[in-house]
Amino acid sequence: MKCIYCQKEKTPSHEHVISETVLKIVFGDAVRNITTSSVFNNKTLTDYQHKILDVCSDCNSNLSPYDVAGGKLVSDINKFYDASFAKIKIDSIKLGWLIKTHLNLIRLSPDKRTGLHFQICQDIYTSLIKKSRIDTPLYVLAIDGYQGKEYFWDENDSKHIQYFSHKSVTFPDQEILVSNFRIKSIDTFLLLPTNNDYDNFANRCKSVRVDMKNGYDINPSEVDIKQTLTDRYYLVTNIVPFDRILRSIEEVKKA
Ligand SMILES: [Zn+2]
Repeated sequence: MKCIYCQKEKTPSHEHVISETVLKIVFGDAVRNITTSSVFNNKTLTDYQHKILDVCSDCNSNLSPYDVAGGKLVSDINKFYDASFAKIKIDSIKLGWLIKTHLNLIRLSPDKRTGLHFQICQDIYTSLIKKSRIDTPLYVLAIDGYQGKEYFWDENDSKHIQYFSHKSVTFPDQEILVSNFRIKSIDTFLLLPTNNDYDNFANRCKSVRVDMKNGYDINPSEVDIKQTLTDRYYLVTNIVPFDRILRSIEEVKKA
C-alpha cells in the first residue's frame, strides 16, 4: 500500500475515519455504528466506525495530536445545542483535525461520475503530517451553525437527528468538490478542486457558493483562516434557522 501522507510503500494501519477519541467523547466507550443523512437532497449512509487503510503506522502515530485536539474541539461543540452566537476555540491543530477528517470522509467515497477517488493536493497531506499551516489558497472552509433544539441531540427522542453527518457533492461546471461534514450544530463545508487543478480556484469556489445558495438554500460563511488562527476562536455568524432545518429533515425522509 502507498501511504497517502508519506507516499511510501508500507503496511497499512487502521486510521479511524472520525477519531476514536472523538467518538468516545460523544458516544462513550461503547461506540456503535452510526448512520447519517444529509442536508443536501439525497440520503447517504456512512459507518463512522469505519477505518481506512491508506495511512501507514508511522504517519498514523504522527497524526495523533490531531485526534487529541479534535476531541477538545468536539467537547466544546458538544456543550451547546443551538449554535447561535457560538464562539468556538480553534487553533491550527484543531483546524488540522477538521481538515484531516474531511479528507478521510472524502476518501471513503469515490467520484460517482468516474468511480475514481478524488485527487487531493499532496501539499495538504504533507502540511498536515508536518503540522505546518496549510496554504489557504489550497482550500476554502465555510461554516454554518444550526439553530438547534435540545431534543435534536437526544437519542431517546423520536425526532432526534444524527450527531455527525457527511456528504460530498461535486459541482461539475466548476470542477469543485464540496465536502459537507456536520458535527452536532456546527456544519462545515470544505471546498476543493475535484481534480487537483487550482487554476482560477477562488472564482470557481465563489461560483459554487452562488449555486449552493440558489440550488440548495445553503449559504455558509467563509472562514477567514488567518484571522481565526490569530483570534484563536471562531464566532459562528451564519445561522440556519430552526424551520429551515426541519424542512431539510423532511426532505431527507422523503428521499
Ligand atoms: Zn506514511
